[in-house]
Amino acid sequence: MDCVFCKIVAGEIPSHILYQDEEVIAFRNINPVAPIHLLIIPRKHISSLVQLSEAESSLIGKMVNTANQLAKEASIAESGYRLVINCGAQGGQSVPHLHLHLLGGRWLSTALG
Ligand code: 5GP
Ligand code: ZN
Repeated sequence: MDCVFCKIVAGEIPSHILYQDEEVIAFRNINPVAPIHLLIIPRKHISSLVQLSEAESSLIGKMVNTANQLAKEASIAESGYRLVINCGAQGGQSVPHLHLHLLGGRWLSTALG
């Protein structure tokens, strides 16, 4: 599978992993746009949010719970943070493996797009 995030899951590409279990992995974004910029992904290759089946939808809750826990560990739970999933080309998705962005550590733009 020629997918950069699958390669991170497989350990073929190095990354700074902050959390992992049997379902999800969280690691630092290689090109952060905020002081805290983590990515939370399922181990399973799901190419985008629109490809998520109903049977897999509990994964999103797992990813959000993981992000909330990491926000606490990064001490941004009180100051505030943002969770983002980009879906598809016009949605701004550049890596075709479902991922949740955790952004924080600075004031984020209130603009949505
Ligand atoms: P998207 O634009 O698809 O929502 O977000 C993809 C994110 O993955 C980008 O913010 C980009 O910086 C990050 N990214 C792309 N390749 C790598 C990589 O090899 N390692 C890490 N840690 N992040 C990556
Ligand atoms: Zn993948």
